[in-house]
Amino acid sequence: MYDIAIIGGGVAGLYLANLLENKKVLLLEEHKNLGPKRCSGIVSKRIHDLADFPKYCIEKEIDNAILNCGETSIEININSIILNKENFEKYLLKKADKKVDVKFERVEEIINGISGVRIRTKGNEYKTKYIVGCDGPNSIVRKTFVREDPKRFYFGKFGYAKERGADYHEVFLDSKYSDLFAWRSPKRNKVEYGMICEKNLNKHYNLLLHKMRPDIKEEGFGVIPVDFFKYSFSKGLLIGNSAAQTKPLTGGGIIYGMSAAQIAAEELNKESPDFLRYENRCKNFFEKEIKRQLMFRRMYSKLSDKRKEKLLQSFAKGNFKIDMDFPMKSILGKKKLKLFRSVLQAFP
Ligand SMILES: Cc1cc2nc3c(=O)[nH]c(=O)nc-3n(C[C@H](O)[C@H](O)[C@H](O)COP(=O)(O)OP(=O)(O)OC[C@H]3O[C@@H](n4cnc5c(N)ncnc54)[C@H](O)[C@@H]3O)c2cc1C
Repeated sequence: MYDIAIIGGGVAGLYLANLLENKKVLLLEEHKNLGPKRCSGIVSKRIHDLADFPKYCIEKEIDNAILNCGETSIEININSIILNKENFEKYLLKKADKKVDVKFERVEEIINGISGVRIRTKGNEYKTKYIVGCDGPNSIVRKTFVREDPKRFYFGKFGYAKERGADYHEVFLDSKYSDLFAWRSPKRNKVEYGMICEKNLNKHYNLLLHKMRPDIKEEGFGVIPVDFFKYSFSKGLLIGNSAAQTKPLTGGGIIYGMSAAQIAAEELNKESPDFLRYENRCKNFFEKEIKRQLMFRRMYSKLSDKRKEKLLQSFAKGNFKIDMDFPMKSILGKKKLKLFRSVLQAFP
């Protein structure tokens, strides 16, 4: 009988495995190579507060982003890192492997019993006291215990071109590329072209490639759940994509997922964990921001490209430095009233 079973070895599950102490832990991941590529790896420097990792996990450090729409371009400071997410996950796996039982098996069924939880994979069955769902957008843990799915999903696709990248990200807000945004993002030896959207993924992606780099091969695809959601249940909790711990404005989820894993580990390391306390602490950390971003996203989705240009111009006026993880706090912060007013003017 395990104390804790973590389902899913993405960044959330692997990071959590590294934080658990003096517990008998099982980590089940369905892909031996840790799953397909599905992330650009752009994170704030807050990641250094969460984890130490070697330099080969970093593709680049990027200070600025250029936001484009139509004829308008503005530069904002974002102070970010581009992770080599594959290397980062492999590094976390290597460390986790020394502490917990890692098995590459797909979880097919979870049975909640009085004496614990039974987990069935093809050919094996495991028993655990507590279970943690780090199993992504289609989480079987969430489906078993919470019986509800997030209401909203974004879809992302990207590919790489062999070219020398600039020292900044570029983001394209034009509606022809996406109902959210497209990007050109430099890596060490190549450039990533990609986009996330809510609707018409292939149509937008093909147009993006056609206009920018027709020679690109498709490299990655992923789904991002976006919602405000339930994070705990009687036998355990959900972390990362399985709980839609993502930013509705950008789809980014690495920092929220890792931060939630840190809170979860503090609880799980106790003799009697309180999963509701985990949920409440997560809510304290990002509830306000997610709700504000959902509201902004709803307003933003109604803007024409001309209005989006006006929005960008309002940011230019504010000499804007953005906290990538809490952008709405950056806009609505105490001393930002002037900026907030000019942002509002962009809306009809
Ligand atoms: C195109 C795209 C670009 C992105 N770019 C960024 C970015 O720049 N910055 C950022 O912060 N975020 C970004 N994200 C979001 C980010 O990738 C996710 O928020 C983050 O990776 C979620 O990690 P996770 O561990 O919660 O879930 P996942 O990475 O989805 O991992 C879930 C794991 O569970 C495993 N699993 C699932 N079901 C089972 C099962 N039944 N049995 C066993 N194993 C199972 C899967 O194989 C997988 O390895 C992007 C997403 C997309 C789609």
